[in-house]
Amino acid sequence: MRITEVTTIKLHYDMPVAMADAIHYMPARPTLLVQVHTDEGIIGLGEAATYGGFLESTEAIVLNELRQTILGQDPFKVEKLWQMMATRAHQRGRRGMLMMAMSGVDIALWDIIGQATRTPLYRLLGGYRDTLDAYASAGFYTRDKDMAALADEFAGYVERGFRYVKMKVGRNPDVMLNPLHDMQAADYAPATLEEDIERVKVVREAIGPKIRLALDANNAWTPSLALQFMRQVEHLNIHWFEEPVATDDIEGSAMLAQQLDTPVAGYETETGLPGFRELITRRAVDIVQPDVIWTGGITECRKVAALAQAYGLPVIPHVFSSAVSSIANMHFIAAIPNGGLLEFDQNVNPLRSELLETPIEITPEGKVHLPEGPGLGIKLNQETIKRYRV
Ligand SMILES: [Mg+2]
Repeated sequence: MRITEVTTIKLHYDMPVAMADAIHYMPARPTLLVQVHTDEGIIGLGEAATYGGFLESTEAIVLNELRQTILGQDPFKVEKLWQMMATRAHQRGRRGMLMMAMSGVDIALWDIIGQATRTPLYRLLGGYRDTLDAYASAGFYTRDKDMAALADEFAGYVERGFRYVKMKVGRNPDVMLNPLHDMQAADYAPATLEEDIERVKVVREAIGPKIRLALDANNAWTPSLALQFMRQVEHLNIHWFEEPVATDDIEGSAMLAQQLDTPVAGYETETGLPGFRELITRRAVDIVQPDVIWTGGITECRKVAALAQAYGLPVIPHVFSSAVSSIANMHFIAAIPNGGLLEFDQNVNPLRSELLETPIEITPEGKVHLPEGPGLGIKLNQETIKRYRV
C-alpha cells in the first residue's frame, strides 16, 4: 500500500458566548482534520491541534512539509514515517506546532492500519480495556456566570452520571506575573483569588462529597501562589491540580508535587517524548497528560505512557477539541494499562457533539464505550462538515 495524497478539512464554530480558562480566551472552536489517502482506496483520518492559533499555520506544515515526506511511502511503516517527519524538520521545530501537525498525520496512518487489518485501533494497540470513565471538563469562565450558575452547571453533570468533574481556576488579573496580562481579552470574565477560592467551595457543595473534583490553572500561577491557593482549598478534597505553573518551570512544578498531598497533573502544553521525559523523571508531575493530537500522535503518546508507567504514574490525557480528537484519544487511553479516564469537554461545540454519525455518549454510570469499527471506527457527518467548513 502506498500513500497517494494528504488533504485537510478546516472547520470553525463560533461560540454563542465566549469562554475562557485562566489565560486563554476562546470565542470560537477551530478544528483541523487531516486525511491521508492511499492507492487501495483507504483514507485515514486524524486531527492536528491548533490550540490558540490559526488553522492555516498548522495546515501549512501538514501540506508543505509532512506531505512531501510521506507521499509514496507505505503507511504501515508508521514508526519510520514518524522519524522521517521529525528528523527532516528538526531545524525548524522539534516541539510545538511541528508536533501538532505530525500528530494529525500519525493518527491518520494508524487509522489506515486499523482499517486495512479490519481491527479497532485500541485493539491493535493492545486492547487493555473497552470502556472508559469520563470526566466532565467544565467550569470555564464566561461573561455573567455567577456562583449560582456555576453551582447549577456542576449539579447538572452529577445528575447526568459523571463521577469525576474538573473546573478552571486562575483567571486572576490581581496576581503579579500572571501570563493573562499578555493574552487576548485579558479583562474578559476576571476573578480575584478570593473569588476563585469561593468558586471551588461552591462547586464542592454543588456536587457533594463523593464526586471527584479536579482543578486546572492552565499555567497561570507562580509556584508560591499555587501553593498558597491549594493550602486554602485542599480540605475540599481535590482529586488533582492541573498545570499549576508555567510549563517550563519544571523545578517549580516538582516543588509543588513534593509539598502537596494533592497530585499535580500536566502538562498538555508540553509536546514530544523529550519534553515529557523531563516532567516525568524530575517528578514535576504525579499524573501525566499528553494529547494524541498535540504531543506527537499515537506513536509518541504510547512512548510517553510507557515512560510514565516505568515511574509508576497514571496517564490522563488532555482532550479538548473535535470528536475526532476524542475518539483518537479514547483508543490510546483504552490501549494503555496506566490509563482509564477520558476528559469529556462539556462546553457547547457541534464539532464534538455533531461531527460523527454516531456521537460519543456517556452512560448513566458516567462511562463511554470504544467504537468497534476498524481503525478509529467512525464516520463523519457530512452535513456538519458542510455547515462549519472554512
Ligand atoms: Mg488543562
